[in-house]
Amino acid sequence: MKPIYVTQPTLPPLAEFIPYLEKIWDNKILTNGGAFHQQLEQALCDYLGVKHLALFTNGTIALITALQALRITGEVITTPYSFVATAHSLLWNGIKPVFVDIDPISLNLDPAKIEAAITPQTTAIMPVHCYGYPCDVARIQEIADNYNLKVIYDAAHAFGVHDKNGGILNHGDLSVLSFHATKVFNTFEGGAIICPDEKTKRRIDHLKNFGFVDEVTVVAAGINGKMSEINAAFGLLQLKGIDEALAKRKIIDARYRDGLKNVTGIRCANVGEHVANYAYFPIFVNSPNRDALYEKLKENGIFGRRYFYPLISDFPMYRSLPSAAQSNLPVARQISHEVICLPMYPNLENEQVDFIVSLITEFLEDL
Ligand SMILES: *Cc1c(COP(=O)(O)O)cnc(C)c1O
Repeated sequence: MKPIYVTQPTLPPLAEFIPYLEKIWDNKILTNGGAFHQQLEQALCDYLGVKHLALFTNGTIALITALQALRITGEVITTPYSFVATAHSLLWNGIKPVFVDIDPISLNLDPAKIEAAITPQTTAIMPVHCYGYPCDVARIQEIADNYNLKVIYDAAHAFGVHDKNGGILNHGDLSVLSFHATKVFNTFEGGAIICPDEKTKRRIDHLKNFGFVDEVTVVAAGINGKMSEINAAFGLLQLKGIDEALAKRKIIDARYRDGLKNVTGIRCANVGEHVANYAYFPIFVNSPNRDALYEKLKENGIFGRRYFYPLISDFPMYRSLPSAAQSNLPVARQISHEVICLPMYPNLENEQVDFIVSLITEFLEDL
């Protein structure tokens, strides 16, 4: 049987991409803010309901640049329960990450624990909308306002997520998206920074192009973070299929939940369905059994992933930080020992979902 991986990128029919390539071959503009780049920035602003968006070559360079754009220094409060790029972006800026524990339901930074971690060196909070589940944006903003901190959301999982107040990407000072192959919306590789005002957008555009303002003026030690025309063109085509892809994810999420609802020994995430983009399907299994289930699934060709295990704070470049101490992050630590993200992608078939559910059921009955 063919292996089933945690995700499979959504691709449009190849023939539909050819006209885009022909345009690029005709006008010979490959990068540097060409027509497709401009069109995709506008199309994403419209689709996501945001004011300004700057495309990037990937989400990690976008995160690093977002910190530069706001001149963040010193210490930044962030979550240990994320992909390493979140904290790596801080180290690349010479910033000290300060890890704060997560809320057991939302799996995001627990606002009640943020204040105790603030020091005179703290300049910003970098929360993650983990699995696309919205952070408590209101509480986080309140704390940021009280202590005069910036907020940069790592929104790599949160493409198209809305809460009751609208698009989740409109919160904080900046939000950063990833369009990596494994994400809900992909441009092969890609990313973006979302910002509320034109002045910041201009600074970000300079920073992603070496700091150039014009032919002879360089205003900052910028980087090369520009998205190429091929990726931007591909994004325009992908955007046509995104609603269908999200709808398919929703149906798969419901099928998993229905299949697993009477199974004891596991939990599904429970953040309320109106808020999700169904980017992932995490389940939580008591920790002695998690790795055994993970292995059983693998033996049967089902390659889930333990996102996020280990915690970022356990990797060698972080573990000596005071905030990485075992005792500081009990919720994140427990969840990271319980989680398996099951396969979740638009073309996952009903029979495949049912097979995965039956393996999990069988495993728990055999315990
Ligand atoms: C994928 C991801 C990133 C990095 O994005 P890339 O586009 O792969 O560089 C950052 N943070 C989180 C939470 C991610 O999942």
